[in-house]
Amino acid sequence: MSRIYNFSAGPATLPLPVLEQVRDELTDWHQSGMSVMEMSHRGPHFKQIAERADSDLRQLLSIPQDYSVLFLQGGATTQFAAAPLNLAAPGQRIDYVVTGSWGKKAAKEGARYGDVNIAADAAATNYTTIPSPTDWDRSDDAAFLHYTPNETIGGVEFQFIPDSEVPLVADMSSTILSRPVDVARFGVIYAGAQKNIGPAGLTIVIVANELLGQARPETPSMLDYQVQANAGSMSNTPATFSWYVAGLVFAWLRQQGGLDAMAERNAAKKDSLYSVIDASDFYSNPVDPQARSWMNIPFTLANPELDPVFLEQAAGNGLANLKGHRSVGGMRASIYNAMPQSGVDALIEFMNEFERTHG
Ligand SMILES: *Cc1c(COP(=O)(O)O)cnc(C)c1O
Repeated sequence: MSRIYNFSAGPATLPLPVLEQVRDELTDWHQSGMSVMEMSHRGPHFKQIAERADSDLRQLLSIPQDYSVLFLQGGATTQFAAAPLNLAAPGQRIDYVVTGSWGKKAAKEGARYGDVNIAADAAATNYTTIPSPTDWDRSDDAAFLHYTPNETIGGVEFQFIPDSEVPLVADMSSTILSRPVDVARFGVIYAGAQKNIGPAGLTIVIVANELLGQARPETPSMLDYQVQANAGSMSNTPATFSWYVAGLVFAWLRQQGGLDAMAERNAAKKDSLYSVIDASDFYSNPVDPQARSWMNIPFTLANPELDPVFLEQAAGNGLANLKGHRSVGGMRASIYNAMPQSGVDALIEFMNEFERTHG
Protein backbone atom coordinates (compact mmCIF):
# COMPACT_ATOMS: atom_id res chain seq x y z
CA MET A 1 0.00 0.00 0.00
CA SER A 2 1.29 3.44 -0.80
CA ARG A 3 -0.06 6.57 0.83
CA ILE A 4 1.02 10.04 -0.21
CA TYR A 5 1.30 13.05 2.04
CA ASN A 6 -1.82 14.97 1.14
CA PHE A 7 -1.68 18.71 1.86
CA SER A 8 -5.17 19.40 0.52
CA ALA A 9 -7.15 22.16 2.22
CA GLY A 10 -10.29 20.06 2.19
CA PRO A 11 -11.54 17.44 1.85
CA ALA A 12 -8.30 16.68 3.59
CA THR A 13 -6.14 13.84 4.81
CA LEU A 14 -7.57 11.57 7.52
CA PRO A 15 -5.68 9.54 10.14
CA LEU A 16 -4.63 6.21 8.62
CA PRO A 17 -5.76 4.18 11.67
CA VAL A 18 -9.23 5.66 11.21
CA LEU A 19 -9.33 4.69 7.54
CA GLU A 20 -8.12 1.21 8.41
CA GLN A 21 -10.82 0.83 11.02
CA VAL A 22 -13.43 2.00 8.51
CA ARG A 23 -12.10 -0.59 6.07
CA ASP A 24 -12.17 -3.37 8.66
CA GLU A 25 -15.71 -2.51 9.73
CA LEU A 26 -17.00 -1.59 6.31
CA THR A 27 -19.17 -4.58 5.51
CA ASP A 28 -20.00 -5.73 9.04
CA TRP A 29 -20.03 -3.17 11.81
CA HIS A 30 -19.48 -4.82 15.22
CA GLN A 31 -21.22 -8.08 14.26
CA SER A 32 -24.32 -6.24 13.16
CA GLY A 33 -24.08 -7.93 9.76
CA MET A 34 -24.43 -4.51 8.14
CA SER A 35 -22.34 -1.60 7.02
CA VAL A 36 -22.91 1.67 8.87
CA MET A 37 -24.05 2.93 5.46
CA GLU A 38 -26.92 0.46 5.51
CA MET A 39 -28.22 1.06 9.03
CA SER A 40 -31.30 2.90 10.14
CA HIS A 41 -30.31 6.17 11.72
CA ARG A 42 -32.94 5.43 14.36
CA GLY A 43 -31.79 1.89 15.13
CA PRO A 44 -29.81 0.83 18.20
CA HIS A 45 -26.47 0.49 16.37
CA PHE A 46 -26.42 3.98 14.96
CA LYS A 47 -27.75 5.37 18.21
CA GLN A 48 -24.63 4.00 19.89
CA ILE A 49 -22.37 5.49 17.18
CA ALA A 50 -24.08 8.88 17.38
CA GLU A 51 -23.99 9.10 21.16
CA ARG A 52 -20.35 8.08 21.34
CA ALA A 53 -19.36 10.72 18.78
CA ASP A 54 -21.28 13.36 20.70
CA SER A 55 -19.74 12.47 24.05
CA ASP A 56 -16.19 12.22 22.66
CA LEU A 57 -16.50 15.62 20.98
CA ARG A 58 -17.85 17.11 24.21
CA GLN A 59 -14.91 15.67 26.11
CA LEU A 60 -12.32 16.84 23.59
CA LEU A 61 -13.54 20.43 23.57
CA SER A 62 -14.77 20.47 27.19
CA ILE A 63 -18.13 21.67 25.89
CA PRO A 64 -20.25 23.00 28.76
CA GLN A 65 -23.47 21.13 29.58
CA ASP A 66 -25.62 24.07 28.56
CA TYR A 67 -24.50 23.84 24.94
CA SER A 68 -26.12 21.70 22.25
CA VAL A 69 -24.00 19.86 19.71
CA LEU A 70 -25.66 19.38 16.32
CA PHE A 71 -24.55 17.03 13.54
CA LEU A 72 -26.03 18.66 10.45
CA GLN A 73 -25.62 18.82 6.69
CA GLY A 74 -25.17 21.66 4.24
CA GLY A 75 -21.59 22.60 5.08
CA ALA A 76 -20.30 25.74 6.72
CA THR A 77 -21.79 27.72 3.86
CA THR A 78 -25.31 26.81 4.97
CA GLN A 79 -24.46 28.15 8.42
CA PHE A 80 -23.75 31.55 6.82
CA ALA A 81 -27.56 31.70 6.45
CA ALA A 82 -28.57 29.59 9.44
CA ALA A 83 -26.81 31.85 11.97
CA PRO A 84 -28.74 35.01 11.03
CA LEU A 85 -32.00 33.10 10.63
CA ASN A 86 -31.63 31.70 14.15
CA LEU A 87 -30.16 34.68 15.93
CA ALA A 88 -31.17 37.91 14.17
CA ALA A 89 -34.60 39.48 13.76
CA PRO A 90 -35.38 40.63 10.20
CA GLY A 91 -33.38 43.78 9.46
CA GLN A 92 -31.47 43.60 12.74
CA ARG A 93 -27.84 44.68 12.85
CA ILE A 94 -25.17 41.96 12.53
CA ASP A 95 -21.46 42.73 12.92
CA TYR A 96 -18.89 40.92 10.80
CA VAL A 97 -15.12 40.99 11.07
CA VAL A 98 -13.72 40.12 7.67
CA THR A 99 -10.19 38.73 7.55
CA GLY A 100 -10.43 36.80 4.28
CA SER A 101 -12.55 35.09 1.66
CA TRP A 102 -14.73 33.00 3.94
CA GLY A 103 -15.61 35.86 6.24
CA LYS A 104 -16.48 37.96 3.22
CA LYS A 105 -18.81 35.22 1.95
CA ALA A 106 -20.42 34.89 5.38
CA ALA A 107 -21.11 38.64 5.46
CA LYS A 108 -22.54 38.60 1.95
CA GLU A 109 -24.95 35.82 2.86
CA GLY A 110 -25.78 37.53 6.16
CA ALA A 111 -26.83 40.63 4.23
CA ARG A 112 -29.72 38.63 2.77
CA TYR A 113 -31.18 38.40 6.28
CA GLY A 114 -29.90 41.28 8.36
CA ASP A 115 -28.40 44.74 8.35
CA VAL A 116 -24.74 43.85 7.99
CA ASN A 117 -22.14 46.11 9.55
CA ILE A 118 -18.56 45.32 8.56
CA ALA A 119 -16.94 46.06 11.91
CA ALA A 120 -13.49 45.50 10.45
CA ASP A 121 -12.07 44.43 7.11
CA ALA A 122 -8.42 43.60 6.52
CA ALA A 123 -8.66 44.26 2.76
CA ALA A 124 -6.15 47.13 3.05
CA THR A 125 -3.41 44.64 3.95
CA ASN A 126 -4.65 42.16 1.35
CA TYR A 127 -5.89 39.99 4.23
CA THR A 128 -2.50 39.37 5.79
CA THR A 129 -3.34 40.79 9.22
CA ILE A 130 -5.94 40.65 11.99
CA PRO A 131 -7.25 44.18 12.62
CA SER A 132 -6.86 45.17 16.27
CA PRO A 133 -10.17 44.82 18.17
CA THR A 134 -9.76 48.32 19.59
CA ASP A 135 -10.27 49.60 16.04
CA TRP A 136 -13.40 47.56 15.31
CA ASP A 137 -16.51 49.55 14.60
CA ARG A 138 -19.07 47.58 16.60
CA SER A 139 -22.82 48.08 16.93
CA ASP A 140 -24.35 47.99 20.42
CA ASP A 141 -27.54 46.44 19.10
CA ALA A 142 -25.99 43.72 16.92
CA ALA A 143 -27.66 40.32 17.04
CA PHE A 144 -24.20 38.78 17.01
CA LEU A 145 -20.59 39.31 16.03
CA HIS A 146 -19.33 36.91 13.37
CA TYR A 147 -15.71 36.15 12.61
CA THR A 148 -13.54 33.47 11.02
CA PRO A 149 -10.88 32.30 13.51
CA ASN A 150 -8.85 30.74 10.71
CA GLU A 151 -9.06 31.86 7.10
CA THR A 152 -8.26 28.70 5.18
CA ILE A 153 -7.32 30.39 1.91
CA GLY A 154 -5.20 33.28 3.17
CA GLY A 155 -3.67 31.37 6.07
CA VAL A 156 -4.59 34.04 8.62
CA GLU A 157 -5.56 32.98 12.12
CA PHE A 158 -6.69 34.75 15.27
CA GLN A 159 -4.39 33.93 18.18
CA PHE A 160 -7.03 35.22 20.61
CA ILE A 161 -10.79 35.12 21.14
CA PRO A 162 -12.32 38.56 20.78
CA ASP A 163 -14.29 39.94 23.73
CA SER A 164 -17.88 40.53 22.82
CA GLU A 165 -20.96 41.88 24.57
CA VAL A 166 -23.17 40.24 21.96
CA PRO A 167 -23.07 36.53 21.10
CA LEU A 168 -19.90 35.56 19.30
CA VAL A 169 -20.40 33.36 16.22
CA ALA A 170 -17.34 31.64 14.78
CA ASP A 171 -16.75 29.73 11.56
CA MET A 172 -14.13 27.27 12.86
CA SER A 173 -14.15 25.01 9.80
CA SER A 174 -10.38 24.87 9.43
CA THR A 175 -9.19 25.22 13.02
CA ILE A 176 -11.65 23.31 15.20
CA LEU A 177 -9.90 20.57 17.24
CA SER A 178 -6.42 21.85 16.35
CA ARG A 179 -5.95 23.00 19.97
CA PRO A 180 -8.11 23.65 23.03
CA VAL A 181 -10.62 26.49 22.84
CA ASP A 182 -12.84 28.02 25.52
CA VAL A 183 -16.24 27.13 24.09
CA ALA A 184 -18.04 29.13 26.81
CA ARG A 185 -16.85 32.36 25.15
CA PHE A 186 -18.98 31.61 22.08
CA GLY A 187 -22.66 31.73 21.23
CA VAL A 188 -22.26 29.51 18.18
CA ILE A 189 -19.31 27.59 16.75
CA TYR A 190 -19.77 25.87 13.42
CA ALA A 191 -17.51 23.86 11.16
CA GLY A 192 -17.73 21.88 7.97
CA ALA A 193 -16.24 18.46 8.75
CA GLN A 194 -14.02 18.00 5.72
CA LYS A 195 -11.02 19.99 7.01
CA ASN A 196 -10.15 18.79 10.49
CA ILE A 197 -12.94 16.39 11.44
CA GLY A 198 -13.87 13.78 8.87
CA PRO A 199 -15.53 13.27 5.50
CA ALA A 200 -17.54 15.96 3.73
CA GLY A 201 -21.29 15.95 4.25
CA LEU A 202 -21.28 16.69 7.96
CA THR A 203 -21.41 20.08 9.65
CA ILE A 204 -20.91 20.49 13.38
CA VAL A 205 -22.78 23.26 15.18
CA ILE A 206 -22.12 23.96 18.86
CA VAL A 207 -24.70 26.38 20.20
CA ALA A 208 -25.39 27.88 23.62
CA ASN A 209 -28.81 26.65 24.73
CA GLU A 210 -29.82 30.16 25.75
CA LEU A 211 -29.73 31.08 22.03
CA LEU A 212 -32.14 28.33 21.01
CA GLY A 213 -35.77 29.04 20.23
CA GLN A 214 -35.26 32.45 18.62
CA ALA A 215 -35.35 31.42 14.97
CA ARG A 216 -37.55 33.59 12.82
CA PRO A 217 -40.76 31.88 11.72
CA GLU A 218 -39.74 31.40 8.08
CA THR A 219 -36.53 29.57 9.03
CA PRO A 220 -36.46 26.21 7.27
CA SER A 221 -36.98 23.70 10.07
CA MET A 222 -33.85 21.85 8.92
CA LEU A 223 -31.86 24.98 9.77
CA ASP A 224 -33.62 25.74 13.06
CA TYR A 225 -31.15 25.01 15.85
CA GLN A 226 -33.93 24.40 18.39
CA VAL A 227 -35.75 21.94 16.12
CA GLN A 228 -32.53 20.05 15.43
CA ALA A 229 -31.49 20.07 19.08
CA ASN A 230 -34.87 18.64 20.08
CA ALA A 231 -34.59 15.98 17.37
CA GLY A 232 -31.05 14.92 18.29
CA SER A 233 -29.94 16.22 14.85
CA MET A 234 -32.36 13.77 13.25
CA SER A 235 -35.13 15.98 11.91
CA ASN A 236 -34.47 13.98 8.80
CA THR A 237 -31.88 11.36 7.85
CA PRO A 238 -28.50 12.70 8.94
CA ALA A 239 -25.17 12.06 7.16
CA THR A 240 -24.77 8.77 8.99
CA PHE A 241 -21.53 7.57 7.45
CA SER A 242 -19.76 10.92 7.86
CA TRP A 243 -21.01 11.11 11.45
CA TYR A 244 -19.58 7.64 12.08
CA VAL A 245 -16.17 8.47 10.61
CA ALA A 246 -16.08 11.76 12.53
CA GLY A 247 -16.72 9.73 15.67
CA LEU A 248 -13.72 7.53 14.88
CA VAL A 249 -11.60 10.65 14.43
CA PHE A 250 -12.77 11.95 17.83
CA ALA A 251 -11.82 8.63 19.43
CA TRP A 252 -8.44 8.76 17.67
CA LEU A 253 -7.86 12.30 18.98
CA ARG A 254 -8.61 11.16 22.51
CA GLN A 255 -6.14 8.30 22.10
CA GLN A 256 -3.51 10.80 20.93
CA GLY A 257 -3.87 12.65 24.22
CA GLY A 258 -6.64 15.07 23.32
CA LEU A 259 -6.32 18.66 22.22
CA ASP A 260 -3.43 19.61 24.50
CA ALA A 261 -1.35 16.97 22.76
CA MET A 262 -2.59 18.05 19.34
CA ALA A 263 -1.74 21.68 20.14
CA GLU A 264 1.81 20.68 20.97
CA ARG A 265 2.20 18.69 17.76
CA ASN A 266 0.51 21.28 15.60
CA ALA A 267 2.68 24.05 17.05
CA ALA A 268 5.80 22.03 16.28
CA LYS A 269 4.60 21.31 12.74
CA LYS A 270 3.83 24.92 11.84
CA ASP A 271 7.00 26.22 13.55
CA SER A 272 9.17 23.89 11.52
CA LEU A 273 7.58 24.94 8.24
CA TYR A 274 7.49 28.70 8.91
CA SER A 275 11.11 28.68 10.03
CA VAL A 276 12.22 27.15 6.73
CA ILE A 277 10.18 29.72 4.81
CA ASP A 278 11.54 32.60 6.90
CA ALA A 279 15.15 31.44 6.69
CA SER A 280 15.10 31.54 2.91
CA ASP A 281 14.93 34.25 0.26
CA PHE A 282 13.57 31.68 -2.11
CA TYR A 283 10.28 31.10 -0.22
CA SER A 284 8.06 33.62 1.45
CA ASN A 285 4.82 33.89 3.41
CA PRO A 286 3.07 37.25 3.35
CA VAL A 287 1.12 36.95 6.62
CA ASP A 288 1.87 39.04 9.71
CA PRO A 289 3.78 36.65 12.02
CA GLN A 290 1.23 37.46 14.79
CA ALA A 291 -1.59 36.19 12.59
CA ARG A 292 -0.15 33.14 10.95
CA SER A 293 -2.32 30.07 10.63
CA TRP A 294 -1.37 26.84 12.33
CA MET A 295 -3.30 24.81 9.80
CA ASN A 296 -2.97 26.42 6.35
CA ILE A 297 0.40 27.77 5.32
CA PRO A 298 0.56 29.61 2.00
CA PHE A 299 3.97 30.33 0.52
CA THR A 300 5.29 31.72 -2.72
CA LEU A 301 8.46 31.21 -4.71
CA ALA A 302 10.69 34.18 -5.52
CA ASN A 303 10.22 33.18 -9.17
CA PRO A 304 6.56 32.22 -9.75
CA GLU A 305 7.47 30.72 -13.12
CA LEU A 306 8.85 27.82 -11.12
CA ASP A 307 5.45 27.12 -9.47
CA PRO A 308 4.41 24.38 -11.91
CA VAL A 309 7.85 22.77 -11.67
CA PHE A 310 7.69 22.84 -7.88
CA LEU A 311 4.22 21.30 -7.86
CA GLU A 312 5.08 18.61 -10.35
CA GLN A 313 8.27 17.57 -8.60
CA ALA A 314 6.58 17.69 -5.20
CA ALA A 315 3.84 15.39 -6.49
CA GLY A 316 6.54 13.11 -7.88
CA ASN A 317 7.91 12.91 -4.34
CA GLY A 318 4.58 11.94 -2.85
CA LEU A 319 3.73 15.46 -1.66
CA ALA A 320 0.32 16.20 -3.13
CA ASN A 321 -2.16 19.05 -3.41
CA LEU A 322 0.21 21.88 -2.59
CA LYS A 323 -1.21 24.26 -5.18
CA GLY A 324 -2.35 27.52 -3.61
CA HIS A 325 -5.93 28.67 -3.92
CA ARG A 326 -6.60 30.23 -7.33
CA SER A 327 -7.29 33.60 -5.66
CA VAL A 328 -3.87 33.69 -3.96
CA GLY A 329 -1.58 31.67 -6.24
CA GLY A 330 1.68 30.09 -5.16
CA MET A 331 1.56 27.15 -2.81
CA ARG A 332 -0.40 26.22 0.29
CA ALA A 333 0.37 23.41 2.70
CA SER A 334 -2.62 22.43 4.83
CA ILE A 335 -1.33 20.59 7.87
CA TYR A 336 -4.38 19.56 9.84
CA ASN A 337 -4.37 17.15 12.80
CA ALA A 338 -4.03 14.11 10.56
CA MET A 339 -0.85 15.37 8.89
CA PRO A 340 2.06 13.93 10.88
CA GLN A 341 5.33 15.71 11.55
CA SER A 342 6.94 13.20 9.16
CA GLY A 343 4.84 14.69 6.33
CA VAL A 344 5.94 18.21 7.20
CA ASP A 345 9.53 17.00 7.45
CA ALA A 346 9.28 15.40 4.00
CA LEU A 347 7.94 18.68 2.61
CA ILE A 348 10.77 20.64 4.23
CA GLU A 349 13.36 18.26 2.86
CA PHE A 350 11.87 18.64 -0.60
CA MET A 351 11.75 22.44 -0.29
CA ASN A 352 15.38 22.60 0.76
CA GLU A 353 16.41 20.39 -2.12
CA PHE A 354 14.29 22.37 -4.59
CA GLU A 355 15.86 25.60 -3.42
CA ARG A 356 19.33 24.09 -3.73
CA THR A 357 18.70 23.01 -7.33
CA HIS A 358 16.61 25.99 -8.51
CA GLY A 359 17.53 28.87 -6.21
C1 LIG B 1 -14.03 25.24 3.66
C2 LIG B 1 -14.56 26.40 4.42
C3 LIG B 1 -15.88 26.84 4.27
C4 LIG B 1 -16.83 26.21 3.31
O1 LIG B 1 -17.23 25.01 3.81
P1 LIG B 1 -18.37 24.12 3.14
O2 LIG B 1 -18.53 23.03 4.13
O3 LIG B 1 -17.86 23.70 1.80
O4 LIG B 1 -19.59 24.98 3.00
C5 LIG B 1 -16.30 27.90 5.05
N1 LIG B 1 -15.49 28.49 5.93
C6 LIG B 1 -14.21 28.10 6.10
C7 LIG B 1 -13.35 28.79 7.12
C8 LIG B 1 -13.71 27.04 5.37
O5 LIG B 1 -12.44 26.63 5.54
